Amino acid sequence: MAKLALLSVSDKTGIVAFGSELTKRGYDIISTGGTLKTLVDGGVKATSVEDVTGFPEMLDGRVKTLHPRIHAGILAKRDNPEHMAKLKENGIRPIDLICVNLYPFKATIQKDGVTDAEAIEQIDIGGPSMLRAAAKNFQDVTVICEQADYAEFLKRYDADQVDRAYRRHLAAKVFRQTAAYDALIAKYMTTEAYPEKLTLTYEKVEDMRYGENSHQTAAYYKDPIPEDYSLAHAKQLHGKALSYNNLRDADAALRMIADFDKPAVVALKHMNPCGIGVSDKLLTAWNLAYESDPISIFGGIIALNRKVDLATAKKMHALFLEIIIAPAFDDDAYAILAKKKNLRIMTLDFGKMNPDHKDLVTVLGGALYQDADTTHETISDFKVVSKAQPTEAQLRALQFGQMVVKHVKSNAIVVTTANQTLGVGAGQMNRIDSLKIAVDKAEDKANYGNAIIASDAFFPMDDCVEYAAKHNIKAIVEPGGSIRDQDSIDKADEYGVALVFTGVRHFKH
Ligand code: 5GP
Repeated sequence: MAKLALLSVSDKTGIVAFGSELTKRGYDIISTGGTLKTLVDGGVKATSVEDVTGFPEMLDGRVKTLHPRIHAGILAKRDNPEHMAKLKENGIRPIDLICVNLYPFKATIQKDGVTDAEAIEQIDIGGPSMLRAAAKNFQDVTVICEQADYAEFLKRYDADQVDRAYRRHLAAKVFRQTAAYDALIAKYMTTEAYPEKLTLTYEKVEDMRYGENSHQTAAYYKDPIPEDYSLAHAKQLHGKALSYNNLRDADAALRMIADFDKPAVVALKHMNPCGIGVSDKLLTAWNLAYESDPISIFGGIIALNRKVDLATAKKMHALFLEIIIAPAFDDDAYAILAKKKNLRIMTLDFGKMNPDHKDLVTVLGGALYQDADTTHETISDFKVVSKAQPTEAQLRALQFGQMVVKHVKSNAIVVTTANQTLGVGAGQMNRIDSLKIAVDKAEDKANYGNAIIASDAFFPMDDCVEYAAKHNIKAIVEPGGSIRDQDSIDKADEYGVALVFTGVRHFKH
């Protein structure tokens, strides 16, 4: 008897050609309402599923193929005589090939103003059931859930290569696809922040050349429905493909620049800022960021939150940079930057971090899921604990420093003015070392006279205050909360330094 294929696709692209090729290879075709019409209109001979089941499609299409005549035809084991006898006894024909793509649930929930009822109606029931049945019985059934596989299947069929390994490969793809489909539905319906099952729905963007190092393999995955403010919306206009480290750095840059409203430039290396400048003009912001650390910026990532003009582009063109990301570029600015073949030029409409954003990191044997650190403290949150009161200018600098320090790897100390980082001490295993690095970088800068210090976590001893005071720092912001806070306060008073507590720690590991 001829082989039997069931075709039921929501997205009809390519189905007429595929159906036609199947009939040429001797397949009989059965099909559901819309697909049948498309096939027949396209001149492909096919029979209605209704004729097979003896039941009309009903409940607005909710029940089309959910019938033993279909599912027994898919699930019967061909090498099991009892199964085959049962099919015969009930006049059921085995189905050899299932080709299904599912209702567009993802596209539906992305539509503006979609109602809950519309979304729920787009939850495919019969499609995944057939796909899963066919995938389970891959020993005997070929299952196709993607248009991309139509041509591959035909090629293999003609070469007599639709073997078990290929069918198993297609079956695995089905289970990944139905799992992801259900995960998206689960995400849509879930209200708990930390549900008892964390289902991931990421879709592969590409295999990467390598991971963090060249001996590590890696791939990039995106959320199918990314948050408004995310790297997923960035467009690369020019340059080499983004590397694993590029993506992580770019992500860190986006998080940093989101905190600034005025024209701002963030220069970053290895996920730590090496220079941040804020001003009324982008060019000035660039100069501030650059002068903050002209050495570290080499090979850096630059995020700018305004359209890049020619003057700023020229400055950047003079350096070796990995990525420049901005909302837009003036034509002449773009032209000069694009002269560098490898420089990655990207655009993104900057915005604010989603306050509910959650970050996922893996640990061996598990994962940790937490709220992103999207808060930052302003002057009104500051509590002055020293006798010396910070000046207005110092308060603004403390606020800026506080904004920056939370983006620096712990232990983090930054020396800043109100609009420029002067020294960044990142990732040391003790706080005083971070402080020494930050001060050492800052001390020779012209603006050091206006500098303050911000610390991501409390000072465990008074040595940091003492070191800072001895290096002419006049104001310090830190969370407070150490059992030895009083020692630091006493030391601040001894040197006449203004010490401010925020009550909020910003560890970044
Ligand atoms: P058609 O356009 O051919 O009428 O419908 C094709 C779509 O129906 C496919 O996306 C397929 O997954 C889906 N489908 C097939 N059988 C059933 C069923 O019994 N119930 C539901 N809800 N969808 C089905």
